[in-house]
Amino acid sequence: MSYNADEMGYYGEFGGAYIPEMLYPNVEELRANYLAVMQEESFQEEFQQLLKEYVGRPTPLYFAKRLSEKYNTKIYLKREDLCHTGAHKVNNTIGQILMAKRLNKTRIIAETGAGQHGVATATVCALMGLECIVYMGEIDIERQAPNVARMKMLGATVVPAMSGSKTLKDATNEAIRDWISNPVDTHYIIGSVVGPHPYPDMVARFQSVISKEIKTQLTEKEGRSNPDYVIACVGGGSNAAGAFYEYLDIPEVSLIAVEAAGKGVHSGESAATSVLGKVGVIHGSKTLLMQTPDGQITEPYSISAGLDYPGVGPMHAHLFASGRAEFLSVTDDEAMLAGLDLCKLEGIIPAIESSHALAIFNDKKFKPDDIVVVNLSGRGDKDLNTYITYFNL
Ligand SMILES: *Cc1c(COP(=O)(O)O)cnc(C)c1O
Repeated sequence: MSYNADEMGYYGEFGGAYIPEMLYPNVEELRANYLAVMQEESFQEEFQQLLKEYVGRPTPLYFAKRLSEKYNTKIYLKREDLCHTGAHKVNNTIGQILMAKRLNKTRIIAETGAGQHGVATATVCALMGLECIVYMGEIDIERQAPNVARMKMLGATVVPAMSGSKTLKDATNEAIRDWISNPVDTHYIIGSVVGPHPYPDMVARFQSVISKEIKTQLTEKEGRSNPDYVIACVGGGSNAAGAFYEYLDIPEVSLIAVEAAGKGVHSGESAATSVLGKVGVIHGSKTLLMQTPDGQITEPYSISAGLDYPGVGPMHAHLFASGRAEFLSVTDDEAMLAGLDLCKLEGIIPAIESSHALAIFNDKKFKPDDIVVVNLSGRGDKDLNTYITYFNL
């Protein structure tokens, strides 16, 4: 069985490109060119150099000694929190901005919910001197003022989406509308392994640098490139896709995807798509998504903005359906405690998204000589207010 996208962008029964006809030329131009562009030597040189000099890669693979002692197993943290801008998202936006330049695009659009992807996009647009328009729900603009300020400082225009629930899905609709109106000069930077083919495959390839580095670094530290487990949180699924990528076809390496259970999987306030989702189409891709019996998308909930998404990308839907990855879910409370635990044990303040991945050590037992790699997708600076309120700091 293959766990990568086929030529039509399918992962098993999931994926594809379910788009309005008006969007076809834009997506088709990207689909027809992305692999050839990514294989160009000059593209790879520029991409690798920016990852090194600008993002600060390779990020360390850090042996977490005190955390390992607590759970009586060998835990390594892949430190994506040390990337420029504070999370893995920039690996993808660097790749896509280079792609946009190769395709002669001069204008960049993006949608953002909590603002993390908007900031990562505004960052690379500033780096390359390209115009940047970020669509964001009106309510999210109010809730995420610091990220809105960051985007403005970086030179982006933030356009409020005023329709519907005035959140991420409405911002996505606005971005798609913009792209349809500007097919020639504009590239749409999607922030996770979601959207119509070729986005999930392209984003997974850009993020695969994470598992490539893990292989090399683990060989240096342990004399073998394969850990026993790789663990990552899943919102749309891009940091998990990057951490899993090189191990997809190595069954000895167990993959664990951690979703946000919010206030409890069956509380009505959750984002645990693998448990609650059914097959449907969201953002141009056939995948698992949370929906009402008549197919309306259900509003998801998680304390962490990055996991607050009603679907998962098609690669993850397939990893779940095929059993290749184990899917676990973690509540707000479990994640918050695991986050604080990492602060006290290792001196690292994690993003609340990443704290979900860390929380599974309380439930799942590992053997003392198991090598467990946790992808620490981001740092907790952006979550300080949530930590302050939650713990009464
Ligand atoms: C956005 C974000 C996520 C969730 O996105 P994925 O595409 O699932 O990786 C996870 N962690 C952090 C720190 C994020 O900013």
